[in-house]
Amino acid sequence: MRQKHLILMNMKNWISLIWIGGLAICQVSAQRDFSNVQMKATPVSGKVYMLEGAGGNMGVSVGEDGVLIVDNQFAPLAGKIKAAIKELSDERIVYVFNTHHHGDHTGGNAEFGKESIIIAQENVRERLSAAVSGQSAKTGLPVITFEKSLTLHFNDEPIKVFHLPTGHTDGDSIIYFEKSEVLHMGDLFFSGRFPFIDLNSGGNVEGYLANVKKVLEFLNDEVKIIPGHGALATKDDLEEFQSMLEQTIQIVRERIREGYSLEKSKAMGLPAKWEVWGEHFISTERWIEIVYNSLKA
Ligand SMILES: [Zn+2]
Repeated sequence: MRQKHLILMNMKNWISLIWIGGLAICQVSAQRDFSNVQMKATPVSGKVYMLEGAGGNMGVSVGEDGVLIVDNQFAPLAGKIKAAIKELSDERIVYVFNTHHHGDHTGGNAEFGKESIIIAQENVRERLSAAVSGQSAKTGLPVITFEKSLTLHFNDEPIKVFHLPTGHTDGDSIIYFEKSEVLHMGDLFFSGRFPFIDLNSGGNVEGYLANVKKVLEFLNDEVKIIPGHGALATKDDLEEFQSMLEQTIQIVRERIREGYSLEKSKAMGLPAKWEVWGEHFISTERWIEIVYNSLKA
């Protein structure tokens, strides 16, 4: 317990805010067909479940105080998400947490915001405000915002939230369920795959890597990690992710130093050991492009 407390105290010390202007992006999912999506709940540890459907992985805390959810995927899935949560608890969804503003994590905000309190880092509210308009949008905005960190005391455990600047976006937070020893990392972790980094929303490849490193420094070995995308993970998986980031960023950095163009760098690809990492949302070429553009910026 002491050790865990120390971990989080230390994390607080290194968290600082960097403001970066940028255009909010609106991820429209209107054309996509969600009718075949099935929600899957996996018990993680203690009171925490992981919920998968389409879009970012959700975290769910279930207990005597009610339900807290981390992220809420796409708007058309709100009914399925509610039904899946009902299987875990008859209690009300009291809090909805947004790890960042992207539509595959906040699409259900308008629906869940009717009955639940939405919490997010203040940059997330700003970006969501810029992206939406009209009367219905108001219910989808976070009503509690914070700058650097926040603790909720809910379902008999401290739930600690930390803002990590300049990573996937400028509004990313990670959420640590202290007694359950579960960390939800939002899109600061794509397990076993190349990550998307939103350079137009304050994201940055080197900042992203720095955030992952800092998280790893303070994690204990038993922690279970819910990544924004990919399977439920361990500290080892996050270390592997860090190693991929470090090495691939270094490769692209060398190419830039040697004067290779983006097109040439993409054509050169990456070593075969990361081939499977490019078989998901972000292909190897796309990853090289993100790294290249971020380092050049
Ligand atoms: Zn995202």
